Amino acid sequence: MMITAKTKITGLFGYPVEHSISPAMHNAGFAALGIDYCYLGFLVAPQALASAVQGIKAMNFKGVNVTIPHKENVIPLLDEVNEEARFIGAVNTVLNRDGVLAGYNTDGRGFMKSLEEAGVDPAGKKVLIVGAGGASRAIGYYLAQKAERLTLFDIDREKLGKLAEDLNKVSSHAEAAESLSGMEEADIIINATPLGLKPGDPLPVDIAKVQKKQVVCDLIYKNTPLLQGASATKGCTTVNGLGMLFWQGVLAFEIWTGTTAPVETMKKALAEAFEKQK
Ligand code: NAP
Repeated sequence: MMITAKTKITGLFGYPVEHSISPAMHNAGFAALGIDYCYLGFLVAPQALASAVQGIKAMNFKGVNVTIPHKENVIPLLDEVNEEARFIGAVNTVLNRDGVLAGYNTDGRGFMKSLEEAGVDPAGKKVLIVGAGGASRAIGYYLAQKAERLTLFDIDREKLGKLAEDLNKVSSHAEAAESLSGMEEADIIINATPLGLKPGDPLPVDIAKVQKKQVVCDLIYKNTPLLQGASATKGCTTVNGLGMLFWQGVLAFEIWTGTTAPVETMKKALAEAFEKQK
């Protein structure tokens, strides 16, 4: 890849940002298509977010991804935000459309694509999401429209109640659960809590209650103890969060370039970067 004075700049605003494996997949995608774009990491401290967003216009960047801790705070700094990002209350992709900054959220659609790729169709199924934070809201927006029933559980009752209420405006199939006692009824169980990121974390659900017929998903990229337990000891189909990361990136790539992404090249680059980081 040759950087020139005409190269269109994209990247990631985050704090921290150095750990990100997104540059590998996007730069491989641009190179495969032979288009003059690049993707960089930008360490943007919370107090610098407004100036950094102004910089997208001032320096004519093509667009950026936005990650922790900026996904919510970026919204008032944009010129427009699409319906799904407004519902989710978070933006992960910004497009600079000739000086107009448009916000999108590709996390939810990314997760749905990862399920599809794994051969899992939530249509007409009973889905349980553990965790009612930002990621749960993003995937819940789509799952509520597809599933026969979407059950949510979180230790934060206020957040749980608000998410169930909001999702019921999208579809009447969402409900908040008081406990995980009914988890045996679910066809698909999804961990949308950070439990499993750190060694020694407790499991988000009781693995003893997981059954072979259930699909178990984790939004965390790596093979968490939950996924290991569900697959190795219970024989369940499992889906990790790497697919969601990948597909949200593919969708962002297509928003910036207006071109179909070279998915096989990008997937290989992401997998290699992930292996190196392990
Ligand atoms: P978040 O906003 O912090 O939400 C997590 C929620 O889970 C919080 O409400 C938390 O409650 C709750 N929780 C914690 N322990 C729980 C338990 N034992 N039972 C039930 N609920 C519990 O986090 P997030 O941004 O939604 O992210 C969630 C996970 O998704 C993270 O692991 C993140 O890495 C992952 N993620 C992956 C992708 C991807 O592309 N694959 C994208 C986004 C996020 P408290 O706040 O009270 O602790």
